[in-house]
Amino acid sequence: MAEQDGARLIDEIRALEDRKSALAARQARLAVAFDQLQRRQQSEVGIPADQLEAGTGAQIALARRESPAKGNRLLGLAKALVIEMPHSLAALEAGQLNEWRATLLVRETACLSSADRSSVDEELAPDAGTLTGLGDRALVAAARTAAYRRDPRSVTQRAAHAATERHVSLRPAPDTMCYLTALLPVSAGVAVHAALRRHADSLRSDGDEHSRGQIMADALVERTTGTPGGITGIEIQLIMTDRTLFQDDSEPARLPGYGIVPAAWARTIIRDTASSAPTAAARDAGIADAGIADAGIADAGFAGAASGNAAVNTWLRRLYTAPGSGDLIAMDSQARLFPAGLRRFIQARDDTCRTPYCDAPIRHHDHIIPWHEGGTTSLTNGQGLGEACNHTKEAPGWTAAPSPAAGLRRHGTELRTPTGHSYQSTAPPLPGTRLDLLNVQSRGLRRRLRRHAKVLKRARAEGGWLLELATIGHCVGGCRA
Ligand SMILES: [Zn+2]
Repeated sequence: MAEQDGARLIDEIRALEDRKSALAARQARLAVAFDQLQRRQQSEVGIPADQLEAGTGAQIALARRESPAKGNRLLGLAKALVIEMPHSLAALEAGQLNEWRATLLVRETACLSSADRSSVDEELAPDAGTLTGLGDRALVAAARTAAYRRDPRSVTQRAAHAATERHVSLRPAPDTMCYLTALLPVSAGVAVHAALRRHADSLRSDGDEHSRGQIMADALVERTTGTPGGITGIEIQLIMTDRTLFQDDSEPARLPGYGIVPAAWARTIIRDTASSAPTAAARDAGIADAGIADAGIADAGFAGAASGNAAVNTWLRRLYTAPGSGDLIAMDSQARLFPAGLRRFIQARDDTCRTPYCDAPIRHHDHIIPWHEGGTTSLTNGQGLGEACNHTKEAPGWTAAPSPAAGLRRHGTELRTPTGHSYQSTAPPLPGTRLDLLNVQSRGLRRRLRRHAKVLKRARAEGGWLLELATIGHCVGGCRA
């Protein structure tokens, strides 16, 4: 009896897997149909041929809850399968391939001409069950063999193209470490590694007791930043609550470009970098307790000077968030370009590109409602966007507006696509705020909001940028005057 139950469960898992593959094939067909429809509609209204693709992948991405970059890859996959690789598409429909394995076949034939790709598809014939039972690596090998055989020249071209993809990236590792990765042509990569190794070997033969790996890592940081230890003189922007900084609170901090870091780590790096006790210095400067009204807006900042060590440039920037909602508080500007203070503010608030599901770094400070359509240069009408998303937003039929529901919540925008679908984007929670919304109706909070408004009014009247102040803090606790 139990065996039968087990068999039934496995049968259903298999049946669902087949359906997932079939649905992926259906999505591919729909994506191609959508792409063709968009092109037709856009060319009818006279959009130049080279711009016809703009935004199609981005719309598919939003619908599939993926990043725009992934959306473009999915569209590319769909086109290759539907237009050039009918056998692979049939295998996907039948469950003989899943979406990932179909992606591998498309990827390995990407540099071939359309005709060669079709003939590889025919040779492999995945719909005849030829790839059944092969691991992913074996499947890639089969596709690569067939592809290289057809067009040995494309292999060389592919290598030349690969060199244009060189880059450096950063991603988190456990325990507040990170991987700094460089994708390099092999000669450059080997040269860098050999130089670091030679340096480490020579220090160790002179008696340095650090491990070779440690010395190599230190040398990489020093040579790249030009500074021993690697971090002075380069601004590290840490965002944390005042409670984390001054009261040993455990609310984590955010390090832009990296992500969330534990509270104790954030305190340590500030203490280490500022050498003398920054807490005392900050209190002297009136930062911790006085609130903005009394702190002396122009020079509340403490940096090296405040800690008595002019050589150290520890910049802490104070950002004020509204009690209850955690939204950053806005200031307006008459200027068309976002002033530096406002840009920093948006950077801190948005952290990464504001397009839903997009993790790309911010490259543009965008007017949500464009300047030429009357959009203001303000925190509410500003957002951080990645390069590609900024271009997509300019494509025909795309509109955006600050989200009307924003109110007391974190900053919101609404993105409308040419098909009339709309998507909400909410700024990520800052340290000290939770994802869920707090009840902001309590009397205490309302009182604090009123006080915020007064302080802001005064700051505006004095013509200063609240953001040009020096420290990071959080008004919910710090503004309790
Ligand atoms: Zn983006």
